[in-house]
Amino acid sequence: MTTTATDTTTRARIADEIRRRQRFVLSSHVRPDGDSIGSQFAMAYALWQLGKTVRVVNRDPAPGPLSVFPGVSSIEVASRIDDPGDAVIVMECGDLTRTGVEGLERGFVINIDHHQGNTGFGALNWFDAGAAACSEMVFDLVGELGVPLTREIATHVYIGIITDTGSFHYSITSPRTFDICRRCMEAGINPPAIAGAIYDSNHLGRLKLFGAVLSRMVLDASGRVATLCVNEKLARDCGGTYEDTEGIVNLPLSVKEIEAVAFFKEAGPDDWRISMRSKGEVDVHAIAREFGGGGHKNAAGGSATGTFEDLKALFEGKLLRQIETAASPRGA
Ligand code: 5GP
Ligand code: MN
Repeated sequence: MTTTATDTTTRARIADEIRRRQRFVLSSHVRPDGDSIGSQFAMAYALWQLGKTVRVVNRDPAPGPLSVFPGVSSIEVASRIDDPGDAVIVMECGDLTRTGVEGLERGFVINIDHHQGNTGFGALNWFDAGAAACSEMVFDLVGELGVPLTREIATHVYIGIITDTGSFHYSITSPRTFDICRRCMEAGINPPAIAGAIYDSNHLGRLKLFGAVLSRMVLDASGRVATLCVNEKLARDCGGTYEDTEGIVNLPLSVKEIEAVAFFKEAGPDDWRISMRSKGEVDVHAIAREFGGGGHKNAAGGSATGTFEDLKALFEGKLLRQIETAASPRGA
């Protein structure tokens, strides 16, 4: 990630506004992921160090495996707030409505994000599409604020990074990413313990659900696009829940020939949430955007309506075109 003069100025302004204010509300996108949780709690611990009052308000609870990390049990799950404090800091969220929390808009909103297409909804907006995780940006802000990198802050910065880079698989991973990870290790984090808590803490139902979903995986004629699908019943029959499907979408990419994946989760009759993943220069964000979704080049999502058969064919075609574009000399 390269830091521009604008980044530096914006970051300094955000630090100034934070110093001047006392009561903070932190938030992120609905169905928070590792980077949402990591960014918010790296920030929360930094603000606590400065003696500030902090509430972390999210529309949905943290993913189960993340609940063991410092501070995470203090999240207030709510879809509205009455008091936005002296400032609202929204991290890892491209649009204020995507917080799913009403009332934030009445506060002084600071927007810190790395999603392409961020709408610039804040009174202060710091956007860096080159950051591998929003928590990398929070790491920089912690330094700007002069707060020492405690083990709690470093743990959360690292959680954001390993989850948002797909454990260093995605092409957004940069030298700076590793530099920040090195600093986090020097601050005392334990990467194997963090990875174990996030990735090796499944219950058996979740593993069975992985098996069931993967055994139903379908490849397109080229063998380069995989489609996965799940509904409530399959999740329940395996002894799992929808939340347990988190992470399945990454697995087909472990096959050498597979370059892109679409994972369909039934949200209602003919109503689907779609997660996509890709390798290298294959751009799934471009597809997500067509469906009112968002994300990043190698990891994006959105929603669509229609029958599974129609949508499967539609997404296969779009993914294959992105693969061909990435492979062509003028592509990417
Ligand atoms: P996932 O597939 O894990 O749900 O999401 C992958 C990436 O796409 C994340 O960065 C996530 O924030 C983003 N994303 C997923 N669904 C949506 C959506 O409906 N809207 C937007 N704006 N981003 C999404
Ligand atoms: Mn992120």
